[in-house]
Amino acid sequence: MDPVEVAAVPDAGPGPAWQNKCPWGAPNTTSISCSLADVMSEQLAKELQLEEENAAFPEVVAVAEGPFITGENIDTSSDLMLAQMLQMEFDREYDAQLRREEKKINGDSKVSISFENYRKVHPYDSDSSEDEVDWQDTPHDPYRADKPTPTPRRGFIGKGKDITTKHDEVVCGRKNTARMENFAPEFQVGDGIGMDLKLSNQVFNALKQHAYSEERRSARLHEKKEHSTAEKAVDPKTRLLLYKMVNAGMLETITGCISTGKESVVFHAYGGRSATEDKVIPPECAIKVFKTTLNEFKNRDKYIKDDYRFKDRFSKLNPRKIIRMWAEKEMHNLTRMQNAGIPCPQVVILKKHVLVMSFIGQDQVPAPKLKDVTLSSEDMKKAYYQILNMMQQLYKECNLVHADLSEYNMLWHDGKVWLIDVSQSVEPTHPHGLEFLFRDCRNVSQFFQKGGVAEALNERELFNAISGLNITAENEVDFQAEIEALEKMNEDHVQNLGKKLSMFSSNGDPPIYDE
Ligand code: ADP
Ligand code: MN
Repeated sequence: MDPVEVAAVPDAGPGPAWQNKCPWGAPNTTSISCSLADVMSEQLAKELQLEEENAAFPEVVAVAEGPFITGENIDTSSDLMLAQMLQMEFDREYDAQLRREEKKINGDSKVSISFENYRKVHPYDSDSSEDEVDWQDTPHDPYRADKPTPTPRRGFIGKGKDITTKHDEVVCGRKNTARMENFAPEFQVGDGIGMDLKLSNQVFNALKQHAYSEERRSARLHEKKEHSTAEKAVDPKTRLLLYKMVNAGMLETITGCISTGKESVVFHAYGGRSATEDKVIPPECAIKVFKTTLNEFKNRDKYIKDDYRFKDRFSKLNPRKIIRMWAEKEMHNLTRMQNAGIPCPQVVILKKHVLVMSFIGQDQVPAPKLKDVTLSSEDMKKAYYQILNMMQQLYKECNLVHADLSEYNMLWHDGKVWLIDVSQSVEPTHPHGLEFLFRDCRNVSQFFQKGGVAEALNERELFNAISGLNITAENEVDFQAEIEALEKMNEDHVQNLGKKLSMFSSNGDPPIYDE
C-alpha cells in the first residue's frame, strides 16, 4: 500500500448527521435479492470478497484509489454476457407478444396490419454500405465502445470501514440500473429496479452502447423501407432542409413537384424575403433536389472523377458528399453562365444537395422544353442562332461544355432559349470534354436540321465553330478519332507537365475564368 495515499484519508471524526446517512439507502444492510443472486452468483462472490477486503483495508479502497470500478480492474465479461442474454430474451418475448397481438388483430382478414417496424430483434443485414456512409458522417465512431470515464474522487460518506463512496459497487450498480431507464423509450429494459438489479459500470456502458446501436439499426431499417416504398418522395432529412427554408421565410410556399427525374426532383416554390439586403429572392423559384439514392449516380462518375476541379476531393468522399458535389457543380456552372449573360436560372441558395434557383416560367407553369414547343420557322431560326451563340459563350467565356445539351434541357421562355441542367457540365480540358462537346453538337444540329432550319451547320462544322479547332476529317468516325487523339495528347501533357495545353482556346491562352 502506498503510505502517502493512505495518509491522504481525511480525518473521519464525528461529522454532521448527513455524513453518516447514505442518501441512496442503507448500503450496509443490503439484503441481496435471492433469485438474482442465484443467477449472478459470480457477482455475489465478488461482492462478498470486496466486503472482506473493505474490512481489512477500508481507507485504501474507499478513497485513495478513486473509482474502484473501472473497465480495467474488474472482470465483468460474464455479467455483460448475462445482461445481454437477458436483454435478448426480453426482446424475444416482446416480439412474441407482438406477433400474438398482430395475429389477434388480423385474424383471417385479407388485409393485414404488420407490426414489423416495432420488432426488437432484427435479422442482421449484410449490406453494410449504408453503415459506412453513416459513420463517416458522424463525428464519433459508433462502433467504438465508450471508455468508462473515471469520476473525480469526491463525495464519500461514513467513516472507517463504513465509508461509502459514490463508487460503491452496490450503490453504483443500483444507480446504473436506474439510469438504464433513460435509454431510448423504445428500448425495453425490463424492471431492473424492481429486481434490485445492480449493474457495474462496464456492463452499464456496454448495454448503453448496445441500446444506442440497436436504436440506430432500427431507424436505418425503417428508413430503408421508406426509401424503397416511397422512392419518389424526398427523404426526411431533405424534408427538414426544405422546411427550414420555408420557416426562415426565404421561401413562401413550396407548391408542388415539377419534375421527377432519375437523378433529381424539381419543385416549384414562391420566393419569400431575403435575410440580407443585397440578395433578392425571385418571386418564383425552382428547387432542385439531387437524389440521395446512390445508384443513379454511379454511372455519372466519369463526369466528375476526371474533372480536375474536383479531382483531389473525389477519392476521399463518401457517396453522400459526392451527391452534394453535383449540386455544388450545378451552382458553380450556373454562376459562370449567369456572369457571361447566358439565359439560365439564377442561383438563389445551395444547401447540401438542394439547389434553389429562379424559376423559368410563370404562375407555377414551367417553360416548355424545346422538344415540346412548336415554333414558327422564324422562331426556330432565331433559336438556332441563339444556341450557336450560347454554345460559343459557354465554351469561350465560361470555359464549359454543357455535356447534356439537347432539346430536353433547353426551355423556351420569353421568346428565347434558356439553358438548364448543368450539373454534369465540364471544362473543355476534361479528359472527355471534347467528346461531350461533339455529342452536344450532334444533338443540336440534328434537332435543327430536322426542324427545318436550312442554315443549321452539321455536327462537325458546329464542333469546329465552337471549339475553334479545325478538324478536317470527312466522316464521323475519323472525326471522333481525331477528337480522342487530341484528348489523349492533352492528358499526356498534363501528366508530364502538370498543366493543361492551351490549344483549346482561340487566342492561344488558356481560358481564365474568375468567378
Ligand atoms: P434532370 O434532367 O437531371 O432531372 P433538370 O435540371 O433538367 O434535371 O430538371 C428537370 C426538369 O425540371 C426540367 O426539364 C424542367 O422541366 C424543370 N426545371 C428544372 N429547373 C427549372 C427551372 N429553373 N425553372 C423551371 N423549370 C425547371
Ligand atoms: Mn434535364
